[in-house]
Amino acid sequence: MVKQMHFEIPKEIQNLQFEIRDFINTEIIPLEDKYDYQTGRLPLEVVQFAREKVKQRGFWTPHLPKSEGGLGLDMVGTALVFSEIGRSPIAPFLFNCDAPDEGNMHLLHLAATSEQKEKFYYPLIQGKIRSGFAMTEPIPGAGADPSLLQTNAIKQGDRFILNGHKWFCTGANGAYFVIVFSRVNGSFRKSSMFLVPTDSPGYKMIREIGVMGSHGPGGHCELKFENVEVPEKMLLGKVGEGFRLSQLRLGPARLTHCMRWIGMARRALEITIEYAKKREAFGMKLSEHEGIQWMLAESALEIESGFLLTLKAADLLRREQDARTAISFAKWHVSETLCKVIDRGIQICGALGYSQDSKLELFYRDARAARIADGPTEVHKMVIARNLLNMKFEA
Ligand SMILES: Cc1cc2nc3c(=O)[nH]c(=O)nc-3n(C[C@H](O)[C@H](O)[C@H](O)COP(=O)(O)OP(=O)(O)OC[C@H]3O[C@@H](n4cnc5c(N)ncnc54)[C@H](O)[C@@H]3O)c2cc1C
Repeated sequence: MVKQMHFEIPKEIQNLQFEIRDFINTEIIPLEDKYDYQTGRLPLEVVQFAREKVKQRGFWTPHLPKSEGGLGLDMVGTALVFSEIGRSPIAPFLFNCDAPDEGNMHLLHLAATSEQKEKFYYPLIQGKIRSGFAMTEPIPGAGADPSLLQTNAIKQGDRFILNGHKWFCTGANGAYFVIVFSRVNGSFRKSSMFLVPTDSPGYKMIREIGVMGSHGPGGHCELKFENVEVPEKMLLGKVGEGFRLSQLRLGPARLTHCMRWIGMARRALEITIEYAKKREAFGMKLSEHEGIQWMLAESALEIESGFLLTLKAADLLRREQDARTAISFAKWHVSETLCKVIDRGIQICGALGYSQDSKLELFYRDARAARIADGPTEVHKMVIARNLLNMKFEA
């Protein structure tokens, strides 16, 4: 039952939203032309140039507390700002608030020791290094179902010996460290997270897996851990806290995905509207055909409802309430909305929408992963249904 909702947006956050929207339009979107469709990356000099501008404007790592160089936003403020940043697919990395680094920063901020922070967290928030988060495994390991986890860390004296096979570890190529989710001494109940530098003996980056969307700066990688020695002090939290920590990381990280996807869906709709208002067909503008208007209206409704679901979950998180079901609603709805809005956009923009002359082609390829990564749609439906079935209704 909804007990309270607070959606009043302070004036300073509204101003910040406008400033970031303007910055994205004038400084970031023009750089999208430098995006390399073959490698799926931006040239290094463009990244450095743009990151410097972001820092000069004071927008760097917006999600962090002010004391750590961020904007000191709560989750709702973050939703408003990230949904502006998400309008450009290259912007989150340029603002240092892209997955997986943003989720890893959140986790390290909450759970890392001061030694771990010195080695991993501070260089990460300064943009000096990148990171990965290694949970998913090939068959027969953990995918949608984490209980199939195979990776195992055996305690030996003051260290753990880690063995495992992971894949789809985003950003791992060129990352300084990865956070590895693993059983301990064969026990699933004792599953834990380990901070593993990528130059550790026995760490192997097998390949960057070819995917239909952008690779981002470090691809989506297959990794092997062969007798990797992890000192006990590089355990994140305590033995057996893996699932508690993964809830700390994955819940908010799923929601920040939704925030960025709202931005991308809005931009796709803007591109579509611009075309529909210019193009003529059968004696009138496309935008004057009722069939087109209905598609635009459906997209607008789905984006708006997805944004409200995202804000609702963000509000619960900022008030430290149980947000799991709300996050599942948002993740399911927003990821599906993103795909539908871009698909309609391509239909309305015709051949141009299908081509690389339009941004919709890139958005379409990138968007497809949204319904799979960080919990496929079906798993979020399962979570919602389980909660419904366990719910006690008041007479
Ligand atoms: C672009 C991208 C980036 C990623 N980045 C990372 C990363 O950085 N780190 C990481 O650890 N992982 C990452 N992943 C992996 C991602 O988290 C997994 O894809 C996801 O957890 C699902 O696991 P799976 O792909 O193995 O699906 P599987 O477990 O093989 O499931 C396949 C399909 O089965 C269906 N299914 C599963 N369970 C149910 C159910 N209960 N009811 C009905 N149907 C069901 C769903 O349709 C699902 O898509 C990434 C994936 C992608 C595509």
